[in-house]
Amino acid sequence: MFENLSERLSGVFDRLTKQGALSEEDVKTALREVRVALLEADVSLPVARDFVKKVQDQATGQSVTKSVTPGQQVVKIVHDALVDVLRGDEDLGTLKIDNPPAPILMVGLQGSGKTTTTGKLAKRLKDKEGKRVLMASLDVYRPAAMDQLAVLGAQIGVDTLPIVAGQKPVDIAKRAKQQAALGGYDVYMLDTAGRLQIDEVLMQEVEDVRDVVSPRETLLVVDGLTGQVAVEVAEEFDAKIGISGVVLTRMDGDGRGGAALSMRAVTGKPIRFVGLGEKMDAIETFEPERVAGRILG
Ligand code: GDP
Repeated sequence: MFENLSERLSGVFDRLTKQGALSEEDVKTALREVRVALLEADVSLPVARDFVKKVQDQATGQSVTKSVTPGQQVVKIVHDALVDVLRGDEDLGTLKIDNPPAPILMVGLQGSGKTTTTGKLAKRLKDKEGKRVLMASLDVYRPAAMDQLAVLGAQIGVDTLPIVAGQKPVDIAKRAKQQAALGGYDVYMLDTAGRLQIDEVLMQEVEDVRDVVSPRETLLVVDGLTGQVAVEVAEEFDAKIGISGVVLTRMDGDGRGGAALSMRAVTGKPIRFVGLGEKMDAIETFEPERVAGRILG
């Protein structure tokens, strides 16, 4: 998918480069291609439309500097506009964990990479910031998920809340809160249960947990390969739970930049981190420039 977008743009920009001057018609032609390419990259129609309009407004009337070709100039305008939408003004890579123990709520659909990401972020907090982290699994429906978090914890040297059979998610959350306070932890991370699709029971459960712990951060983990579905998931979770940011996983695959752009534009919430593999250190702070560069090829 990236190839389509990049190729399409580079084709247009090559043509522009040869023309030697940036006319209004050039900008229009280029942006028509940008729009089609964004749609193909799974950016939703209103987002693509708004984006192109914004770029059009910026590009129109801009004089072409002598040092760059018209093609390069359009690329730069589109690139900067992408970065602008994607960045916002948040501090992306810094989690709010003042006032210990700070609760971090991890939410998302099953299979999105939620448990893996919980482990990755816990390790990052421990290694980079020297924080004491406690992790707890609230997935009472899948005992294997609870075991998975315990195994990850042992692997990365982060404590997990002992598993007590038969407890409800809210009770586990309360126990985690208590344990985090008593144990002198800086942060406790709650890995909530996911479903294959959004359902009311899941949402209610996450809402109840949220009300019990008042999270400092609520991070939605979404599979970056799922495109438009990821955007819908983000919209829904943000409306019901209120998220403070998104972690896009599987960005090591041939994921589309489109999901990132739409998600940011639709929810207004920042993408904070990207998952880049299965290993525990395969996570990075989201870099708008990199995604914009990837979209432009
Ligand atoms: P959960 O059901 O949301 O908790 O999902 P898991 O954390 O169990 O992850 C599901 C699968 O996706 C596992 O095999 C993970 O190793 C894998 N996974 C998670 N994040 C990434 C990522 O960023 N890149 C890749 N390639 N795989 C990932």
